[in-house]
Amino acid sequence: MADSFLLPEHLKGIAKIYVDRSMVDVPLTAKVTERLPDLPVEVVDPDNFPHGELEGKQSLYLKEYKGKFLRFCPGTRYYHCCGYRIIHIGEGCPMACSYCILQAYFQDNVLKIWANQEDLFSELGKAFSADMGTRYRVGTGEFTDSLALESVTGYSRDLIDFLGDYPNVCLELKSKIIDLSWMDVVKRTDRVLPAWSLNAPFVNEHEEFGVSTLKERLEAARTCAQAGFRVCLHFDPIIRFDGWREGYAEIIDMIFDYVKPEQIAYFSLGSFRHMPHLKPIIEKNFPDTTYIFDEFITGNDNKMRLLRPLRLRQFKFIVDRLRSHGMDKQLYFCMESTENWQDIFGYTPKDLGGLGKHLMKRAFGD
Ligand code: SF4
Repeated sequence: MADSFLLPEHLKGIAKIYVDRSMVDVPLTAKVTERLPDLPVEVVDPDNFPHGELEGKQSLYLKEYKGKFLRFCPGTRYYHCCGYRIIHIGEGCPMACSYCILQAYFQDNVLKIWANQEDLFSELGKAFSADMGTRYRVGTGEFTDSLALESVTGYSRDLIDFLGDYPNVCLELKSKIIDLSWMDVVKRTDRVLPAWSLNAPFVNEHEEFGVSTLKERLEAARTCAQAGFRVCLHFDPIIRFDGWREGYAEIIDMIFDYVKPEQIAYFSLGSFRHMPHLKPIIEKNFPDTTYIFDEFITGNDNKMRLLRPLRLRQFKFIVDRLRSHGMDKQLYFCMESTENWQDIFGYTPKDLGGLGKHLMKRAFGD
């Protein structure tokens, strides 16, 4: 292994690298295999991928992706969605959070990375240059954690370098680990939004495994803010547990020991919601988890969500506390109704000119 490269703890479970035959000679494959020289590498044909060979151990799969790289976030028409666009760079996460939706999507422990970066850049280039007056708020943290594999792939670094030519694009890097190795390629600090999901300390300690501590995330947010970036923070999922008031009060107060409200571009609040079939998966993977037995109803989008009075009680407490620290229009709900916006914030997305437009303005610092 190269002297200068120390494998982060959360990647130590990876046992093997698979590479599509067509991706053997691409730069990303050279980079990953150089950074992980001790791992066995197998060249595969995608139609004959050796599923199950590693009996549950994690592997990295450098794959040629044939689908669309730029996508819409899968919101629903029943609730206010934020209009985010996803740059799809891979699938799966080496960490383990009990509430993670990815468990329902990807159960094979194969961390897939789209190695045909040239195709990705070609598609993005066409989309973003079609009209340089059209602005895009994009992120990579939908089907993976934006930075979980950064130390071995440098994917965000490459993407930031590429997007340096597109001032009409603002990239959010959403993560639960600390990797700031991409910072030195940033041309405009106002076009990259480093973002961390935070939660009450109890949730971090009992439901998130292999991730950084809350203090580490906030220290990284402070480093970015001091370097001229605005950061994004997220409370998603907000979970009910004994002592949730004290827990969310603690993390909220802690946030402002590290960053100022004006250094936060936006801050989402989302209550724990899940597709019905995620519940048995959580029960199996995380047998000590109890919040899944809380009082849920099925929403218009067929996802289970906490009963409205319970949800609103948590939202009200959290919003009041955040506001007491000077937070205001940075706050928004992920997938809530107009009525809930009105009850908690006292205004609706329409009053902000639409949630997508509002967040676009916040992202671009208008
Ligand atoms: S860090 Fe994010 S993507 Fe990874 S397991 Fe946790 S919630 Fe899922």
